[in-house]
Amino acid sequence: MSDYIVRATALEGKLRAFACTTTELVRELSNRHGCLALASAALGRTATMGAMMGVMLKGEETVTIQVRGDGPLGKIIVSADADAKVRGYIENPLVELPPREGGAYEDVQKLDVGRGVGEGFLLVTKDLGMKEPYTGSVPLHNGEIAEDFVYYYAQSEQTPTALALGVLVDKGQSVKAAGGFVIQLLPGVADEDITYIEEQLSKFPHITQLLVNGATPEDILQRLIPGEINFLETYPVSFTCDCSRDRFERGLLSLGAAEILSILEEDKGAELVCHFCNEKYQFDEEDLQELLQQAETR
Ligand SMILES: [Zn+2]
Repeated sequence: MSDYIVRATALEGKLRAFACTTTELVRELSNRHGCLALASAALGRTATMGAMMGVMLKGEETVTIQVRGDGPLGKIIVSADADAKVRGYIENPLVELPPREGGAYEDVQKLDVGRGVGEGFLLVTKDLGMKEPYTGSVPLHNGEIAEDFVYYYAQSEQTPTALALGVLVDKGQSVKAAGGFVIQLLPGVADEDITYIEEQLSKFPHITQLLVNGATPEDILQRLIPGEINFLETYPVSFTCDCSRDRFERGLLSLGAAEILSILEEDKGAELVCHFCNEKYQFDEEDLQELLQQAETR
């Protein structure tokens, strides 16, 4: 099953929801960055949230999530657009920590994402095509990513939100399943409906367990939401990086003539690597000479 997000409403439009599978996306991120299990889980959960926050946007809008914790995994950055094109980066993909007590189910590694991420801040920047992008920031709640976003929505957007994000990594470090859901309640939801959702959430199994057993994003929402659900739209999710040689050229140019000359003299060339996709861009002596000329005539 290819990755996708489904968008839905229920309770006469007073509830909106998203659910997704992101197994392929997380596998690609994990492979590109050479992540071990803990980093796959931390980056994968963030990217899964990013994909869903992306489709909440419109047109050319983009969202960038920064998880800035003081734990050994370092910084996590994910950006996504309204077409659920997602890319992401984690500073230290090779960190391992001892397993945590009490896991979701037996064959899941009990990955201690909270300790890997540590304490710090969650920043969400939305570029809505206006002059200044809007950034909301909250302290990390526990570094487990899902709870951090629940807290973000409560603090920053005053929207009661239930959500889950899951990445299942097997013992051979490969990503077996990933996905998540977001349910948001708008004003006017009846108490009995809130109670129903809370009860369903309290006995809800780990989301990756459902995905491994073949549940679709639609199935997941059916288990949680009372009454009839209107499934509005589905969006394919993909890994996409918009880096280009052109962009790196401009980056080199912006360093100025003196800096380019020193790279030329010391290294005779440059290899620049995109943090998001690990694509490498080579600039040889001739390329740098050309850029130097351009920089000098600016
Ligand atoms: Zn790239």
